[in-house]
Amino acid sequence: MQPSVHRDEVVGIENEWRDSEIGKDLKRVRNVKPLWSRFGTLLGIGLGGLDMWTNTLFGLSVFGTLKHGKTDAQSLEPAAKHKPIAYPKPDGVLTFDRLSSVFMSSTNHEEDQPVHLQVRDMELQKRSEHDVYGGPSTRYCPAGVYEWVEKDGEEVYVINAQNCVHCKTCDIKDPNQNINWVPSQGGEGPVYASM
Ligand code: SF4
Repeated sequence: MQPSVHRDEVVGIENEWRDSEIGKDLKRVRNVKPLWSRFGTLLGIGLGGLDMWTNTLFGLSVFGTLKHGKTDAQSLEPAAKHKPIAYPKPDGVLTFDRLSSVFMSSTNHEEDQPVHLQVRDMELQKRSEHDVYGGPSTRYCPAGVYEWVEKDGEEVYVINAQNCVHCKTCDIKDPNQNINWVPSQGGEGPVYASM
C-alpha cells in the first residue's frame, strides 16, 4: 500500500485575492498578453482591446481564458540572439537603484540562517545560466541578490541572500529551473511597514 501524502495548501488566500478588486481587474485583462504573443502587435493588441471591452461590459470573453503556451522560464532565449540594452542610470527622483529600494523594504535575514535560495547544480548554473543566457538573474532579481564575480580567473556565482525580498522571480524565471526558493526561517524577509 502506498503511503498517503498530506500537503497543506493555503486555499483561503487564493480564493480571497481572486474575489478582491485586484483579482477582478486582473481577470478582465487575462487574455491581452496571450493574444499579443499569438497575433502580433497590430492584430493582437486590437483583439486584446476588444476582449477587455467585452469583459468589462458583459463580464465574459469569447476566447475564454487563453494560455501563454510556455512558461516564463521557457521564454528566455540565449544571450547571443539579442543585443544588450543600455538602460539609463537611476535619477534618484522617479527611478532608484536596487539597493536603495531593498533598504526601503526593511528586509532582514540572519547571516547564518539555513539557505533559502537553493541552487541545485552550480556547474549547470555556470555552463548554462552564465555562459548561454548571459546571467539573467543578475538583472531580473529586483534586489540584486545574484552576481557573477570574477575570482582567481573564474566566474563565481555570489548569492547575497540577506537582501532577498521574496518575490520568487528566480524560482520562476531561471531558464533551467535550477533555483529553488523556500520560505526563510522564522518569517524573516521584507517588512513593508507602509503597505
Ligand atoms: S526571490 Fe526575488 S528578490 Fe529573492 S533572490 Fe529571487 S528574484 Fe531576488
